[in-house]
Amino acid sequence: MDRRGAIQALGLGTLAIGGLSGIALAQQAGGNVLAAGFKDGAFVLPPLPYAPDALDPHIDAETMTLHHDKHHAAYVKGANAALDALREIREGKRDAGEIKRWEKDLAFNGSGHVLHTLFWTNMSPQPGQPSDALQAAINRDLGSLDALKTQLSAAAGAVEGGGWGILGYHPMTSGLLIVQAELHQNLTVQGLVPLLVLDVWEHAYYLKYQNRRTDYIAAWWNVVNWPEVSARYEAAT
Ligand code: MN
Repeated sequence: MDRRGAIQALGLGTLAIGGLSGIALAQQAGGNVLAAGFKDGAFVLPPLPYAPDALDPHIDAETMTLHHDKHHAAYVKGANAALDALREIREGKRDAGEIKRWEKDLAFNGSGHVLHTLFWTNMSPQPGQPSDALQAAINRDLGSLDALKTQLSAAAGAVEGGGWGILGYHPMTSGLLIVQAELHQNLTVQGLVPLLVLDVWEHAYYLKYQNRRTDYIAAWWNVVNWPEVSARYEAAT
């Protein structure tokens, strides 16, 4: 049962469409998830699309709450500070000699905000399966779903320090690529449209898994929201 079906089965359809869960429904239907992260000229923190304990036992509620409310919020704040400073540089109110610092802050915090906004919707207590179109692309470009998991798990597991494993669609190859991002913004291929992102910063798993990043990655595959990933693939193509 997908999220819409689950909500309707609970008799919450009207409430969900009228309330915050309407965002989750739009995401489920393949809407632009990232649009929820920017409003009235500033970056904003979208709400988690489910309860903090929804992914338990794979990811615990305390980790989810701290990760979303503190870590993701800090990237939003940092990205907005960079936007403000860059506007002041354009307006001559701030020394242009500061440009490298603020462009770097925009790349780091802006990329962190993008990836976290995708990350929450990439996960679900009802994981589902890839669509036929996404599965066909996986088979064509990466061999199989198991092979995808092998590469993405290895890439994420081998990140030095904080970073991400990312499955994306690239318009140049009209196909799928997996990259390993250091921090949020480094080691990617420009133009890659992220479809599925796996956060392996310690803040994503340390409370429950301590140093066992490999165990966290193995557990994470149980909560991948394949219908959402499939919708993003179909939107990208
Ligand atoms: Mn994170």
